[in-house]
Amino acid sequence: MKKTISIIGAGTAGLASAIRLQSQGFQVTIFEKNPQVGGRMYTFQEKGFQFDVGPTIVMMPEIYREVFEYSGANPDDYLSMQLLDPLYQLHYQDGTSFTVSSNLTKLIPALEKISHEDTQGYLAYLADIYARYNVARKGFIDRSFLSSQDILSWENILNTLKLRTFNSAYQSIAKFVKNEKLRQALSFQTLYIGVSPFVGPSIYTIIPMIELLYGIWYIKGGMYAMAKAMQKRFEELGGKVITNANVSAIKIEDSQAKGIVVNQTFIPSDAVLVNADFPYAVSQLIEAKYRGKYQPKKLKKMEYSSSSFIMYFGLNKKINTTVHQIRYAKDFKKNINDLFAPTLPEDPSFYIYSPTQIDASLAPLGKEIIYVLVPVPNRENQKFSWDENMKKTFRDKMVAKIKTIPGFAQFEQTIEVEKIMTPRDWETQFNLQYAATFGFKPILFQSNFFRPQVKALKVNGLYFAGTSTHPGAGIPIVMKAAKIAVDTIIKDFQS
Ligand SMILES: Cc1cc2nc3c(=O)[nH]c(=O)nc-3n(C[C@H](O)[C@H](O)[C@H](O)COP(=O)(O)OP(=O)(O)OC[C@H]3O[C@@H](n4cnc5c(N)ncnc54)[C@H](O)[C@@H]3O)c2cc1C
Repeated sequence: MKKTISIIGAGTAGLASAIRLQSQGFQVTIFEKNPQVGGRMYTFQEKGFQFDVGPTIVMMPEIYREVFEYSGANPDDYLSMQLLDPLYQLHYQDGTSFTVSSNLTKLIPALEKISHEDTQGYLAYLADIYARYNVARKGFIDRSFLSSQDILSWENILNTLKLRTFNSAYQSIAKFVKNEKLRQALSFQTLYIGVSPFVGPSIYTIIPMIELLYGIWYIKGGMYAMAKAMQKRFEELGGKVITNANVSAIKIEDSQAKGIVVNQTFIPSDAVLVNADFPYAVSQLIEAKYRGKYQPKKLKKMEYSSSSFIMYFGLNKKINTTVHQIRYAKDFKKNINDLFAPTLPEDPSFYIYSPTQIDASLAPLGKEIIYVLVPVPNRENQKFSWDENMKKTFRDKMVAKIKTIPGFAQFEQTIEVEKIMTPRDWETQFNLQYAATFGFKPILFQSNFFRPQVKALKVNGLYFAGTSTHPGAGIPIVMKAAKIAVDTIIKDFQS
């Protein structure tokens, strides 16, 4: 008889774990509360437009491919990816902009326009962080920390020292480049994981390095093509996805996971893997005596990432722009400090994604998708209701800002489809604690061995893989979590 595994949630790590387990001979069923798979990597369609709801930037494409290869399939049969050039454009409020390319012959002249000294500094930063990345990859990202020997080994202590991660991302960049715009260009990426560059550990400057050295890619059909491809592969292997299945409890007896409860029905399994966000799952699905150290007091004390306000527009006309662009606040530091104060930023930085610049399959002929993401505070502080009034006020303010962008003056008159995701929507639709769209904030004391691990320490047969567990947020990173969790499950069943 095959061993059975129930997975709670069909997010990225849920789907990737499911493929891995099913291809290793387990019988896997995924239970997903929403009507579609994908989790934060969600989609919606309207009037012929197809929108990506959450993630849009593809980094480390080999990790996307690996899950298909692991299951014995050729990723090219499931995904088609292209390298973007430029990677993105950065726009500052004084009217200047910086086009970032991973092509050195384009990047270097753009940097030299700023200064030769900073060009040298930029290259020195890349060399320095590349060396630290190699330490992080082997020593921290690709592994779990399940026992005190795992944590307290000399190797770990040495690796931690080699990472030199005790200052902030911004401080670390500032040592290499003097120009303020360039400093912002290399530090804003910590917002991808919901932490301020002025606070987030310097190791997260690996993100711009990965963009530059390995590129930003685009998946034909948009990000959701990845979720669909994983679902397809999983079902081909004989796995089962049940949607509209809200899990209400994990059944544990004598410290052994026995199964889950869905719609008042108990579904037994040999192990349970939780993909739903960790702080929600541990507090809502697990009986208090089995939560280990993650009791309400500890969860309250932990720090949570920022949230996201996103507007999705389907326009009935084309707009000539780039796939990815960032529009900086006049005072970037104040904007970031406001985010975590928490205050709704008066003059926010924001990000625009327009996949239809290169992919006509996502909209009717001659039409355009514009996705606008504004980082906003999470909802830990109760003052942000995000009721209809607050939503409309913020929407109007952002639309007024967008209209000042060259080429966007008439954009409001061309809106055919419009939808908004506020922090409240993220919280309820995906069960994200405090609407923190990137899970636990990845500060030093909530990273690596300080982050919840892939395996429950007090319960046998209970595992976790997702954004709030080790190694952290981002599609490739939660796919690593899936790999680590599945390797742990296989090892446990073998012994
Ligand atoms: C706005 C935004 C932009 C982002 N941009 C990028 C980007 O450009 N590039 C990138 O790499 N990463 C990006 N990320 C991060 C990335 O999207 C996430 O880290 C990743 O998608 C999270 O996957 P996950 O496996 O942790 O789980 P989730 O996507 O959170 O999936 C968990 C699933 O569990 C389900 N669930 C919860 N509770 C229950 C229950 N009780 N019963 C059944 N099911 C349940 C949820 O509905 C969900 O489907 C972005 C995230 C957001 C929110």
